[in-house]
Amino acid sequence: MDLLMLGTGGGFYKKLYPNNALLDLNGYRLLIDCGSTATRSLHELGLSWEKDIDGVLVTHLHSGHVGGLEEIALDGKFKYKKKIDLFAAEDLLDPLWEHCLKGGTADGPSDRLDDFFNVKPMKHGETVSIHGMPAELVRTLHVPGKSSSGLRIGPLYYSSDAQFDERLLLELQERVRFIFHDCSLEPARHHASLDQLATLPESVQEKIRLMHYSDDPRRYLAHGRIGKMRLLEQHVRYSIS
Ligand SMILES: [Zn+2]
Ligand SMILES: [Zn+2]
Repeated sequence: MDLLMLGTGGGFYKKLYPNNALLDLNGYRLLIDCGSTATRSLHELGLSWEKDIDGVLVTHLHSGHVGGLEEIALDGKFKYKKKIDLFAAEDLLDPLWEHCLKGGTADGPSDRLDDFFNVKPMKHGETVSIHGMPAELVRTLHVPGKSSSGLRIGPLYYSSDAQFDERLLLELQERVRFIFHDCSLEPARHHASLDQLATLPESVQEKIRLMHYSDDPRRYLAHGRIGKMRLLEQHVRYSIS
C-alpha cells in the first residue's frame, strides 16, 4: 500500500494543510481524515474526491480533520449521486452528525448520517478488514473527554492528533514498521512534542515520521533533537510495506 500526504501541517498554519492522508489499499482509496482543505489539496494533485476516493476514516472532530465532509456529503447526494464509505469509532458517529454535519447538510428532520455516507462503525481495539488489510482503531488521548483514534493498518500506525503516550508507542512499535506521528516543536497541551518523542529509544525513533508541524519545518531540524525521526513532506507519496 502507499500513502500520499495531503497535508503535513498543524490545524491553524497558513502554508501547509493539516495532516490528512490518502491511503491506497490495492486500489481502494481511503482518506484518513477530511479537513476543510482536503478537497483543495486533492485538486492541486490532479485528483478529486468524486473520482478518486472510495472511503474516508475519521479520527476526531477538529475542523482540520472533518471540515471537508460537508462538501462530500452535499455534492455526493445532490450532484454526483455517490455515497462513499465512512469509517469511524462508534462513539464518534453521533457527535459527528449532531455537532458537525447536521446543521450544514440535513434537508429535513429525518435526515441522518447514513443518508450521505455508507457508515461503517468501528470498535476501538477490534481488528477489521478494510479492503483486505487488517485495520484497528486505537483509542488515543487528544482532547480530554472527547473521542479520538489512531489507526493501525497493515505495517503502519498513524496517530492523527494525540498526546504523547510512551506505553502505547512502545507496544505498537513491536507490531508496525512505520509510525506517522503528530508533533509540535514547543510543548503543547494536546499534541506530542518533539522533546517527548525524542525520549523514545532510537529503535522506535527510526520508525517515526513526523507530521502536524509548523509552517517552517527547518526549525525542527535546527532544534537538533529530531534524533532518528524524519519529517514527512506534503504532497509526497510514501510506500508502506
Ligand atoms: Zn489536527
Ligand atoms: Zn485535533
